[in-house]
Amino acid sequence: MKPMGPIPPEFAAQTGALTIAGQSAGAWMEGREGPVFVYDPTIVASRVARFRAAFPSIDLHYAIKANPFAPLLAAMAPMVDGFDVASAGELAKVSPLGKPISFAGPGKRDAELTAAISAGVTLNLESEGEAHRALTIADGLGVRPRLAVRVNPDVELRGSGMKMGGRPSPFGIDAERVPALVRELIAAGADWRGFHIYAGSQALDPQAIIDTQAATIALAARLADEAGHAPPLVNLGGGFGVPYFAGDKPLPVETVGQALEQALASRPAILADSRFAIELGRWLVAEAGVYLARVIDRKDSGGETFLILDGGLHHQLAASGNFGTVVRRNYPLAVAHAMGAEAVETVSVVGPLCTPLDRLGDRVALPAARVGDIVAIFLAGAYGATASPAAFLGHPPADEIIGGSA
Ligand SMILES: *Cc1c(COP(=O)(O)O)cnc(C)c1O
Repeated sequence: MKPMGPIPPEFAAQTGALTIAGQSAGAWMEGREGPVFVYDPTIVASRVARFRAAFPSIDLHYAIKANPFAPLLAAMAPMVDGFDVASAGELAKVSPLGKPISFAGPGKRDAELTAAISAGVTLNLESEGEAHRALTIADGLGVRPRLAVRVNPDVELRGSGMKMGGRPSPFGIDAERVPALVRELIAAGADWRGFHIYAGSQALDPQAIIDTQAATIALAARLADEAGHAPPLVNLGGGFGVPYFAGDKPLPVETVGQALEQALASRPAILADSRFAIELGRWLVAEAGVYLARVIDRKDSGGETFLILDGGLHHQLAASGNFGTVVRRNYPLAVAHAMGAEAVETVSVVGPLCTPLDRLGDRVALPAARVGDIVAIFLAGAYGATASPAAFLGHPPADEIIGGSA
């Protein structure tokens, strides 16, 4: 038997039939051919409220690549201060929502720069080449572009699942070249919006985030001093993780918030009038989503029991351990009609794809599940439907559903 990660608090205390956003898993699956993702916006709202209480003076941006489902974005628009996007496709999804938008990501094409500059979106510039293309395009449009500089920081987020700073990188401009670029942007007449400094993702150690944020503030001040210009906004990145696996502990954001408010209270003079933002993806939405699939078959082989579902890694790649993890570990999952019930058997839960990678639960202890029963996989609100190879092996995509409004 191998352990599973912790079921998110909103579901962990349930007994009997699993309820998501006020309806049972069975009711959400009613009349549907295949697996579904169900998102509960009230869980997102509770994460936002927790962030607001912990970080009273910081803007909150949602990085929509974590989950760009349009009804979820609409529900989140009143909750957040801005959206961060990383393609023209993502930009089109948030444009109608009337919030400030920033656009990061390497390799922005001219058409993407044009769309963003025309719409008044802040571009987080990833290279000098991109900066020059943006200035030329803005000139052609007769528009004053909003430009921020993404810094490839000389700090990295310790313990982070994905390190994005402190080394050669396709993301951001090496710190030592940033001041000259800021001066050039301002001299060219651009509306320089400040810095974007993103040092990593999926961190659960509060001290690592505290140290990174302190280093980020110091770096922003140093670059601003060297550039001779104060940044209107410093986007401090994010990287708040969620507990996916056995032994993971939830991030105490209140501890991080206290340290950040203190660090800002004594910040260098050049940042006195700057605003600060944190951009979060998974921490806001991961726990709000549940992936539901039905048991198609049960079989025994070599002394192991397999539950074969109608859903798999083509919908929820991350739970198979093939999205940014080194060692495969079990996400939390449950038999949807038997929440809180005692485990009676050890089973491996697999998907229908013809590859051994399609394993959603490896020798997990569960209550009995028969053919036709629903299995729930938690933490499916981030990097699920849009981060999975939906076309692989030709099965239909999963439906996505949002529960009642927040
Ligand atoms: C992916 C990404 C995020 C969101 O990361 P999470 O781990 O989901 O919070 C935020 N900012 C940038 C620049 C990113 O690339």
